[in-house]
Amino acid sequence: MKVLLTSTSFQDCDGSHKELLNQQKWEVSYLRGPLKKTEIIDEIANYDALICGDDELDREVLEKGALGRLKFISKYGVGLDKIDLNAAKELGIPVTNCPGVNQIAVAEHVLAMIFSFFKNIHLSHEITTQGGWKRPLGKELFKKKIGIIGLGAIGKELAKRTPYLGMETFVYDVNLDREFIKKNKLTALTCVEEIFKTCDIVSLHVPLLESTKGLIPKVLIRESFKPGLVLVNTSRAGLVDEQGILDALEEGKLGGYLTDVLLVEPMNNSCLLKNQPGILITPHIGSRAQETIQRQGYMSVENLIRLANEVE
Ligand code: NAD
Repeated sequence: MKVLLTSTSFQDCDGSHKELLNQQKWEVSYLRGPLKKTEIIDEIANYDALICGDDELDREVLEKGALGRLKFISKYGVGLDKIDLNAAKELGIPVTNCPGVNQIAVAEHVLAMIFSFFKNIHLSHEITTQGGWKRPLGKELFKKKIGIIGLGAIGKELAKRTPYLGMETFVYDVNLDREFIKKNKLTALTCVEEIFKTCDIVSLHVPLLESTKGLIPKVLIRESFKPGLVLVNTSRAGLVDEQGILDALEEGKLGGYLTDVLLVEPMNNSCLLKNQPGILITPHIGSRAQETIQRQGYMSVENLIRLANEVE
């Protein structure tokens, strides 16, 4: 079986995932993703399987693959929004992903971003490395209200931790786990707007689907939230209106936008958020922890072994 592997963190980190891969009698080729459509469309037909990251696998790319050898896709990660799942289904190409392996790393990344922003760690580091001693004023997290939209794997890990920081924790999900809410003494609210009206910090943990695209529209960012609210996005950029974010920051309504995800990754010069005050950006590293990479990599290889065995 010919396999194309595009995830850079899988490639760059040693461990059990590589050992399992090397035990397979597969011919593995490597490219450094995330690949744009133009970078993968002429390659894809040469492989029986992909172990992919966030490469652009739209209908046209998948059709090209299916005309050639492509039979299986194993996503190294959770979010499947870069893969046209309808096209894959129609073409008979099964797609797997890796739920349940990276939620702790992402939840910790959310906390790291919030701490950095509230304590001005990123700014202070820049100031002092340039020889300065200007000392920005931070804020406490204690008694702040945090809202978690999407109480799935990542949202739950965050919700388990924030009460221990003395933060009042509010949650919203279309499908609430009442037992978890009761056990962790959380407060459930009934809609996104309620979360925005109530909380000082809101963290997004829903997948990007047709139903969630633009979940946080301009009007909500401008009108319905508590003044000074800080929005954290480690999910997907398509959930929010970036122009709305900029406008609300400029008008002093939004306190900050902390994001691990951009509409176009890697960031290019047309990125609206580049070099803007009140914004903290990390380069989609939420799940990039040594522990996670091995778990996720191992699972992506196991998934592919299973898919291949199913058709034998
Ligand atoms: P999950 O599937 O476990 O949880 C998602 C939750 O969102 C579910 O509980 C679901 O009911 C809820 N939901 C769906 N639509 C909703 C809506 N309209 N309103 C409210 N809730 C809704 O997923 P997860 O593992 O927690 O991951 C969430 C997302 O985080 C992924 O889809 C992915 O896009 C992103 N992610 C980012 C990174 C990173 O490195 N930054 C890593 C992993 C995942």
